[in-house]
Amino acid sequence: MSIRAEIISIGDELTSGQRLDTNSQWLSIRLADLGVSTVFHTTVGDTLADNIDVFRTAARRAAIVISTGGLGPTADDLTREAMAEAFDCPLEFRQAAMDHIASLFAKRKRPMPERNRVQAMFPKSSLEIPNPHGTAPGIDLNVNNTCRIFALPGVPAEMMQMWEQTVLKRLTGEMNVGAERWFYRTLKVFGIGESDVEAKLPDLIHRDRIPRVGITVSKATISLRIACLAKNEHEAIEASRETEKIIHDTLGELVFGEGEEELDDVVHRWLVEHKQSLSLIEIGGDSLIASWLAKHSQPANPHPFTDAKAIDEAHTNPEARIGLVESRWYPSWTSSLDEIETMRQLVEQVRLESNTDWCLAIGPYPQHDAVENMKSMPTCQFVIGLASRCGDTRNERFELGGHPELIFHRIAKAGLDYFRRHAHLA
Ligand code: AMP
Ligand code: MG
Repeated sequence: MSIRAEIISIGDELTSGQRLDTNSQWLSIRLADLGVSTVFHTTVGDTLADNIDVFRTAARRAAIVISTGGLGPTADDLTREAMAEAFDCPLEFRQAAMDHIASLFAKRKRPMPERNRVQAMFPKSSLEIPNPHGTAPGIDLNVNNTCRIFALPGVPAEMMQMWEQTVLKRLTGEMNVGAERWFYRTLKVFGIGESDVEAKLPDLIHRDRIPRVGITVSKATISLRIACLAKNEHEAIEASRETEKIIHDTLGELVFGEGEEELDDVVHRWLVEHKQSLSLIEIGGDSLIASWLAKHSQPANPHPFTDAKAIDEAHTNPEARIGLVESRWYPSWTSSLDEIETMRQLVEQVRLESNTDWCLAIGPYPQHDAVENMKSMPTCQFVIGLASRCGDTRNERFELGGHPELIFHRIAKAGLDYFRRHAHLA
């Protein structure tokens, strides 16, 4: 079982939306590296009663609590008082902390306002967390031996330094946190909805399963993330092996990659590894596939999408053809009645003209304003065609729906996925 942590972010500037809470994200990642599960992010404004409430609640439900903010010298900085009241440990003055604060003012050649004395006040029995470059020391409080609270200032640079120099050491040294940590394996899936994945893998998504599997979707690509608490990577790979096998066995070729990979990475890698070239036709709208594949241009093929001159060069220099040779953008779809037949002729003709191993065509993409003006969820019909050097031409008609912001991605990814499956990519 992983240790449970809560992060409390304090400040009206956060609850009002004026400033983004980046501290919670940074701290959660650090805690995850130590095998600690952050189970709550709580954000609270600068109000004493609410702060007391939030600290008490956190101490009840988490073993480690990290708070940031509210340690400044002004009247809206209430973390010290809130901790003192919440856990019945009155504030006391600490001379050593005062000396450090005074020395910072002396170095800056400024008189110390009386108000800063409050920063040398600590809840009884708490420890100081030194803040080398700031006047707000942190507070380390053990609550009933069931919860350890580390209160840090909100300024990200100070918070991070105090984490590295003190909090991390106390967690790993005194509390033996970090013997195990989280390792993640992510499998990427395309061509199926999120709920269909869950329906196919009902036992996998159970919250109390070990290892736990989470599903997230981004721009029509599904990520299945397997989380293992383990001592090292080898142990984590062993612990996730069975789960990965279940996913592969159940979803088969719907799984296209792993980690951060997207469909364009997988398709491009396959083209290079198999020394294959591709011409690409995107009809109407944007040329999304072309722009994704353009990221992969490489020394052997510096101009993947090209003008006539580069295409000529590519024809005379086979090495330059590896990867992608040519992308065409057809502004509109001027097909006659039979779209499928038109598509078949188009991919065969362009593949021949460009002398590439493959020609993939997709379209038409819908017009942006047509999609934006649709009241309900837009759906659109399009055709994908694929011609290969070995004379095998395939076409298929598709219909997809989706949020206006996603439909273009879904169409483009459907094109890449079609290529991936029919070029028999593993
Ligand atoms: P405080 O320690 O409450 O005086 O906060 C000092 C400054 O740190 C604030 O004015 C914010 O600009 C910044 N800050 C406070 N909390 C956060 C947070 N959770 N994420 C990012 N910045 C913060
Ligand atoms: Mg504040």
